[in-house]
Order: sequence, then structure tokens, then C-alpha cells
Amino acid sequence: MSVTNNRTLHDDVRELAELPPSESPIVSCYLDLRSSAPTDWKGALVDRFSLLRRTIDPDKWHDVRQCFDRIRAFMSFERDKNKKGVALFVREGTEPFFLAREFDTSVPTFIAVDEHPDIYHLVEMKETFHRYIVAVIQPTWARVLEVNIGSASIEALQDHPQTRDRVAQELTHTHYARHGDFVRGPYLLEVAETLERLVLTDGHKHLLLAGDTDCVVRLEDTLPLVVTDNVMELLHVDEGERPDIVADTIHRFVHHLEDSSDKLIDVFRESFYRDELAIAGVDQVLAALEREKVDTLLLSLTVHPEVCWRCEDCGTHVASIARPHSCRGCGSTAFIERDTLGELTRLAERGEARIEVVRKNSLLDRVGGVGALLRWA
Ligand SMILES: [Zn+2]
Repeated sequence: MSVTNNRTLHDDVRELAELPPSESPIVSCYLDLRSSAPTDWKGALVDRFSLLRRTIDPDKWHDVRQCFDRIRAFMSFERDKNKKGVALFVREGTEPFFLAREFDTSVPTFIAVDEHPDIYHLVEMKETFHRYIVAVIQPTWARVLEVNIGSASIEALQDHPQTRDRVAQELTHTHYARHGDFVRGPYLLEVAETLERLVLTDGHKHLLLAGDTDCVVRLEDTLPLVVTDNVMELLHVDEGERPDIVADTIHRFVHHLEDSSDKLIDVFRESFYRDELAIAGVDQVLAALEREKVDTLLLSLTVHPEVCWRCEDCGTHVASIARPHSCRGCGSTAFIERDTLGELTRLAERGEARIEVVRKNSLLDRVGGVGALLRWA
């Protein structure tokens, strides 16, 4: 299964975030499959396996070992050898679970064993993986294309704008193409119907209209409300008959994404300095997530927080390198160490908070790489 459908990835993330724990731990396994990966995935599995064998409770070890067998079986016989990254979530025991997702872009190699799946890298992929629809309308022809673009492609485009024609070819899928009279003919309705289907059944949220200005205006008038209501942006790209119009929309879309991320950071900065519905730092954000107060969770792509600890009795989190003495919620001294990004993303998904992975921001990085906009104080 490949990541060509963002909604399915979203469904995976939600399913994993809401997966109830069982007596057996779940193994979250992300593997970088590029030949240029810093560690070869086979070696990574062997290393992690031998480390875990020495540290996991003997009564849980049997199930964990079976998880590793299942992962090795998938990697040997079932995977698509062209993919550059894979995420596997495996649990054995009385409530077995298996989910595999393969990617055209790499993921950092990371293997965790815990009662909850670690979904951070999946969320990062979801949040930095974008797709949109382009409708190009000219007086004599029209096309509707779907574009899927991952963060790696966006970075490549930013660094090497000359590659965009090639990237455009690799990332597009045509849903409609027709020659005809788009000034007087009835064909605009066909385009509108195609767009309606893509919005309703595939959940598309970004739509770009391009081409001859008069034709674009007429198409807009033809679009059903359900399309205009569901579409967040209508960007006009007036490029005449230029053949690389799709490549141009990708360029525009990348700028547009940077703009919306910038705007969110502006809101965060302003609210933070006014001390109004914005918080920063792992401890505060975890506490707000526990109470489902978070509207938008902001995570830095470059600065990652330290580990945190969760009280086994009441679920309160403490961010600290050292094991805390006692829980501020209930006074208990029973803590388990947790991966902070995994905890943050899991709680955010559960509370239906939006998650924004921020590429570059000095304020967010200064406060430990974690911030949030709140629904209420
Ligand atoms: Zn507690």
C-alpha cells in the first residue's frame, strides 16, 4: 500500500491513537529503507532486538519476540522493494494487531516497545504530506489533475527549482481531460461534476483553478456549494497556454503552504506575548492536552523535547530527564518513561487537536520545540 491517499494515512493515525492498550506491548517500528540510510535496517532490527531481550520483562518477552518475527516476515516477503520507508505496528498476545504502511519518502529508523503505539513519525508524514486538485481550463481544452507532494519533494523543489517539471510528472494523476469548446459548450458542468466527486469521495481540501480567466470565472460560478464549502482555497493561476502550468501550480502551492504556516506562527507569537490562549513548553502543553484544551499543537521539526514520565496511577505527565520523585496529581511514585513526541501526538489526535509541524521558528525552538494554541484558558 502506498501513500497516495492522505485520508487513509489520517485514518491509520486515528486508529492507532485510539487503540486501547492490552496486556501485551505494541512494537512501533519505523525503518529507513534507502540504500544511503545512516543505518541499514537489518542491522537496526538486530541491534534493537538484542537490547530489548536484555531489558524487557521476561513475561512480556515472548510476545515481543513474536512481533519481531512478524516484522521480519513482512520485510522479507511482503514489502514493496521500491519503497523508501516503512512503518509497522505489531502486537501479539490476546489482542493481536498489525498495521503496515509503506512510503515513497524515507522515515527515520526508530523502534519502540510500549503499551501505546508511537505515532509521531506517522503524524509528521501526514502533516507534511500534501495533495491538491488542479483544474486547468482553456478555451479549447480542460484537465483535472490530482497532485500528491511530500515534504521531501517540497524541500527538493525549494533547493532545486529547475527539477519541478520532473517532479510534476511524478506526482500527478489525471482525473479528467477533454478537448472541446469551453467558452460556449456544456463541458464546464463535467469539470464541476469531477471536482464535486473528488471533494465528496476523496476528501480533497485544496483546489486550484488555472487557465483562461474568463473560463475560470465561469467554472467558479458553475461549482456546487458543496465544493466551494469544502475547499479551503481557490487560487487563480493565470498562465495562458504555457505547457508547464502544473509545475507552476506546485510552485505556487509550496509558497501558499509556507504562507499558512507563517500565519499560524504569527498568531502563536502574538498570543504568546499577550499571554492569551497560547502556551509553550512540554510540561504545560502536556497538562493542557490531558484536559483536551488544545486547539492546535505546534511541534518544531528541528528541536525535539526530552523524555517525559507518566504517572501509572493517574496519568499525569512530567517532562524531566531524571525520574520524578512524586506525582503532582496524586503523590504516587510509580512512573513510566515515555517518548515525549509520541505522547504529545497521541494525546493531540485523541483530543482532535490540529497538529502543525513547523519547519523553522526561533520562538518555538527557544521554548523547547513545543507550543500550543488553546481552545479556552
Ligand atoms: Zn499521579
